[in-house]
Amino acid sequence: MVKETGYYDTLGVKPSSSPDEIKKAYRKLALKYHPDKNPNEGEKFKLISQAYEVLSDPKKRDIYDQGGEQAIKEGGMSSNHFSSPMDIFDMFFGGGSRMNREKRGKNVVHQLSVSFEDLYNGSSRRLALQKRVICDKCEGRGGKKGALEKCMTCKGRGVQIIVQQLGPGMVQQIQTMCSDCRGEGERINPKDRCKQCNGNKVIPEKKILEVHIKKGMKDGQKVVFHGEGDQEPGLEPGDVVVVLDQRDHDVFQRQDDNLITKMEIQLVEALCGFKKTLNTLDGRVLLIKSYPGEVIKHAHVKCIQNEGMPLQRDPFEKGLLIIQFLVTFPKNNWLPLNKLPLLEALLPPREEIMVTDDMEMVELTEFDIREQSQHYRGEAYHEDDLPRGGVQCQTS
Ligand SMILES: [Zn+2]
Ligand SMILES: [Zn+2]
Repeated sequence: MVKETGYYDTLGVKPSSSPDEIKKAYRKLALKYHPDKNPNEGEKFKLISQAYEVLSDPKKRDIYDQGGEQAIKEGGMSSNHFSSPMDIFDMFFGGGSRMNREKRGKNVVHQLSVSFEDLYNGSSRRLALQKRVICDKCEGRGGKKGALEKCMTCKGRGVQIIVQQLGPGMVQQIQTMCSDCRGEGERINPKDRCKQCNGNKVIPEKKILEVHIKKGMKDGQKVVFHGEGDQEPGLEPGDVVVVLDQRDHDVFQRQDDNLITKMEIQLVEALCGFKKTLNTLDGRVLLIKSYPGEVIKHAHVKCIQNEGMPLQRDPFEKGLLIIQFLVTFPKNNWLPLNKLPLLEALLPPREEIMVTDDMEMVELTEFDIREQSQHYRGEAYHEDDLPRGGVQCQTS
């Protein structure tokens, strides 16, 4: 029922997605297309951040849903009113304010894929990363003490003026960063240059970080290693931020501290009682049974106290284990027709109706809900609209 889906498509989510799903989609894409990791995808990174800026704000999302991109622009958000993609990224991953950033190196964000078991039991993971550290041989000077001299190419200004002849009597002056001193105005005489860092002041170093995943941690939660970011002379190093990315689980889904699962039971179990086992995330086996005489209806939801995810503030406490029962009904003709009265005699009585001659006999056929949703996908429609052509009623 939204006007257009462009921003949703950019993030790969549905217009019906929850704020959490939008957050998670942004998190994954922003890390994937961040210029540090994907320098050639700057445009994509920008689009992702614009889509997120609109969809993460309930007010803006509402305006977009009703009037599309046009309404967002008319509402004062022309493309240069969007925040910079880096600001959005830093805000999301906690990179600190712009003021701070001038004195500090930038944060490095890594995503760490974790299983339900990791988050249930707690775990410790080693993360190997490459970082830049101040060269210990020259202590970050890039060469011998006193080897620093004014750059002769730019005379210490750090910039070069290039004069271009555009036509007869027309010249253009272009100011560019001096390539000899990389804009610093100073350089180290090549013969005095530090051999270890080749005058770069920093050298790459392999670093292993031990990431402690505490019981009950959540998807998207950050583990911060203060000051473990790249080192740069004159700057306080930034942080390494590890963002947990919870992988899907075959059996369980998670909702905050609760675990959710579906359990299939046969019709006989739904009516006459059942005993089922369920393996927990820490390798125990739960025996689950119904009360004598209890009827479990299809899609009925029940829960078990204290078998959900551990709470982070108190890992001895756990959330709920929520089970939805799916009742498997027997196939057509599972019972010979002449035996049906035996079954009927045991079941609660049916409601009889009076059949009269003026009633119309109609045929009941199969209905394919998938074809209906395909027909409506991506189309604006109102719930009170009558189904239009294309909805198939199967007669087979
Ligand atoms: Zn220079
Ligand atoms: Zn050095």
